[in-house]
Amino acid sequence: MSAFYREKVLSVRHWTDTLFSFRATRDSGFRFQNGQFAMIGLEVEGRPLLRAYSMASANHEEELEFFSIKVADGPLTSKLQKIREGDEILVGRKATGTLITDNLIPGKRLLLLSTGTGLAPFASLIKDPDVYERFETIVLVHGCRQVSELAYGEELVAKLRDDELFGPLLSEKLLYYPTVTREPFRNRGRITDLISSEQLFNDIHQSPLDIETDRIMMCGSPAMLEELKQMFESGGFIEGSGNTPGHFVIEKAFVER
Ligand SMILES: Cc1cc2nc3c(=O)[nH]c(=O)nc-3n(C[C@H](O)[C@H](O)[C@H](O)COP(=O)(O)OP(=O)(O)OC[C@H]3O[C@@H](n4cnc5c(N)ncnc54)[C@H](O)[C@@H]3O)c2cc1C
Repeated sequence: MSAFYREKVLSVRHWTDTLFSFRATRDSGFRFQNGQFAMIGLEVEGRPLLRAYSMASANHEEELEFFSIKVADGPLTSKLQKIREGDEILVGRKATGTLITDNLIPGKRLLLLSTGTGLAPFASLIKDPDVYERFETIVLVHGCRQVSELAYGEELVAKLRDDELFGPLLSEKLLYYPTVTREPFRNRGRITDLISSEQLFNDIHQSPLDIETDRIMMCGSPAMLEELKQMFESGGFIEGSGNTPGHFVIEKAFVER
């Protein structure tokens, strides 16, 4: 048995000159938990060229969706950004990752903190009815440099608000907070600053961070994650993992090479 499923690209959307998303067929044997990632890629000169990708689709969906960066000289994404409907991608059989609700101690408010393509695992999680069962409030924060980079997340949330099943859940429980660092926008600033200054909580009319009730998942640049981790740990929050649930869990949106 091959280590990969060979899936067909069903559609591709380019959001900016550095971001695109695509949908692909999903083998009925490919199982994952919402928030997890798998190795995906292309066959190049007869060999698999793979990178870690979070599933942006939820595990109840028939198709797979991915939200991707375009790195100009990136070994994979310089090619992947050119895929079209009908092309073949490789999807590793094993999904894994720490951004799953079982890795968190039960709480009341779930903060999903992301930058850039770090939104992808949360795109999956906000389509999971179980997340709305476990938490009273879900705050989805997406930080980008430019307003145009928010488009994928804005459309995702708008579509879910119109959805028959998710619409009522979102209006009752989901607070969406997009923020931008390099252009004028209604919310501005880095996630670390917005949390330490409590501006985020003021803006969404919510109580400040509370270790008794808040649980956190974060996915973004390694530098942002390090800063947030230190901030939460200094407040007594403990990192969770597969063996021991905690107050927060972390996944890198990419690694620096
Ligand atoms: C757990 C995990 C999950 C991931 N999920 C996704 C995902 O859902 N979508 C996605 O686009 N990428 C994701 N990545 C990054 C992905 O694995 C690749 O790095 C990316 O596709 C670029 O591949 P490449 O071969 O073109 O360049 P690489 O050689 O892999 O990367 C080159 C450089 O580009 C930068 N870079 C790479 N990826 C990103 C990114 N996503 N955002 C900003 N800068 C980046 C880094 O500086 C890196 O050193 C994930 C990485 C990890 C570890």
